[in-house]
Amino acid sequence: MRITTITNWAYGITVVLTVLSAAAFILSARSATQERQAVEQHLLLSSMGEELALGAEETTDEARLYVMRGEARHLEAFTVDEGEERRRDTAINTLRGLGLPDGELQIVEQVVSDAEALDKIEEAAIATYRGGNQSGARDTLFGPEHERLQTALLNDVSQFRSLATARTEAAVHSAQARSDLWGDAAKIMLALTAVIFLGVLYFILRRRVALPLVRMTGVVNRLARQDYAVELPTERRRDEIGEMNDAIQIFRENGLERNRLDAERKRDLQTKDYILQMMHRLQACYAQNELAEVVALFVPQIFPGIAGSLYTMNESRSALTEVSRWLDPTHTQPSFPATACWGLRRGRPHVSHVADNDIACQHLDESGVPGLCVPLTALGEAIGLLYFEDRTKDATAVDAPQLYLELIAENIGLAIANLQLRDKLVNLAVRDALTGLFNRRSLDETLNNLHRDQSAQKVVCMMIDIDHFKRFNDEFGHDAGDEVLRHVAQIVSDTVGGIGTVYRFGGEELTVIATDMSDEQGFDIAEKLRTSVFTTPFSYRGRIVGPLSISVGVASSPVSGPTTTLINRADGALLQAKLNGRNKTVAAFAMGAEGELKHG
Ligand code: GH3
Ligand code: MG
Ligand code: MG
Repeated sequence: MRITTITNWAYGITVVLTVLSAAAFILSARSATQERQAVEQHLLLSSMGEELALGAEETTDEARLYVMRGEARHLEAFTVDEGEERRRDTAINTLRGLGLPDGELQIVEQVVSDAEALDKIEEAAIATYRGGNQSGARDTLFGPEHERLQTALLNDVSQFRSLATARTEAAVHSAQARSDLWGDAAKIMLALTAVIFLGVLYFILRRRVALPLVRMTGVVNRLARQDYAVELPTERRRDEIGEMNDAIQIFRENGLERNRLDAERKRDLQTKDYILQMMHRLQACYAQNELAEVVALFVPQIFPGIAGSLYTMNESRSALTEVSRWLDPTHTQPSFPATACWGLRRGRPHVSHVADNDIACQHLDESGVPGLCVPLTALGEAIGLLYFEDRTKDATAVDAPQLYLELIAENIGLAIANLQLRDKLVNLAVRDALTGLFNRRSLDETLNNLHRDQSAQKVVCMMIDIDHFKRFNDEFGHDAGDEVLRHVAQIVSDTVGGIGTVYRFGGEELTVIATDMSDEQGFDIAEKLRTSVFTTPFSYRGRIVGPLSISVGVASSPVSGPTTTLINRADGALLQAKLNGRNKTVAAFAMGAEGELKHG
């Protein structure tokens, strides 16, 4: 109920109770007056009854004294008392005027008639006495008739007094009871008024207003400090405090919503910032492993709580291999065929989720955990895949903002494409197109590096020249010559393996540089090369051509000479090998105990 309604009701009830208690006081006072009047009447009737009895007795006494003693003063007193009868008449008239009940009035009438009969007897006795018949007078006044009348009068008076007393006492009691009743009613209503007033004062001011206001002040203060975690009273009140409570609740909800929007905006800004940072770093990556590291670092910050993997496509565009992962995704495979992913097949993000009743990717296990595959494309070609899966209940990969997913996928795709392009360009710059070996520029760079390197590590250089190569060109054409070059390059590469690097020096000449190798080891490998080429059959268009042979010159640094002269010294040894009849290996350094140049 509203406070104003309660207050109005309390006010109305208080006014009504006050009016009622005033009326009860008035009625109580009136009853008190009636009581007083009844008491007065009681006293009046008593005194009048007394007066009636005494008057009759006094007259009788004076009459009797007169007839007994014959003294004039008694006659005089009797006469005066006779005069007094008028006063008795007046009293009787007064009594009649008081509106006495019939019973009492009849007794009064009886008293009057008894008194009059007595008067007549006494007057007759006095007349008899005066007539000289003293004994007759005495007999009359003391006779049975006089006695009967006197007794009857006194009885009547007594009966009247007792009747009047009983009636007036009853009236007094009744008036007293009414007075008490109204007095009590007035007091009760007054007490009720006081109780209601105090109750309303306590209930409204303290419980309904003061306490909620104190609580609300605390709430408002905390809200003012932007502490929106504050709990509002849950009771639903339909009064002014309830309306204030509702208003504060709306204020709090608005604040919470504003905070939520602020947090969302901040999170959004932070996400954009992370995306921007990742884009900058992706642009600066030199190699795919760096790119994988950047993605694994930033993507979980952009989509917190979501695990994932980055896959790249192989050159033949047939399979994907995981190159980085974050938050340990457990439901996908480290590598799988490109056809196993519906995202790649459809060229758009694909959600594999049992609840969606959609087809799930085959590279996922049977767990049914939602997985999201975002294909990475560049220039219309699929080059990789971003895979996401839920790690916590709060973070859902499926709900990740589509715009950000596309932005990230596009940037990672472009970055991968850039790196692949860059790798191709680097390959083109450092590799020889015909043989796939490193080119002369690469050799120069390696030699420069070796020269700059102060660690003075042992380096062996082999200069290789195909013997009579021109003949293949001349006999079978340039294509055959190219094929011979590729064949020899392959044998040299396979034989050197990981212990050295093979370069195409130019024309039909190759160079091998190997570090941390002794002169003897270098010479042995050179011999191995020469033997391998010579013993490996070569066929061109189904015809065995050959045998092929190479001449090799071997030189080393730094003991036998500086790296700057390494090529020249090896070249000199090669020339010597040619001069020695080709298909030979010549070392530019001293070998064995003789300290001479070694010839294979
Ligand atoms: P020698 O045993 O003295 O080394 O004789 P050679 O014929 O191998 O040497 P020469 O210097 O006389 O001939 C080298 C030839 O290799 C000349 C050139 O036309 C040919 N040549 C150079 N580069 C290529 C190439 O890339 N492809 C082909 N098919 N031939 C090439
Ligand atoms: Mg040559
Ligand atoms: Mg040659």
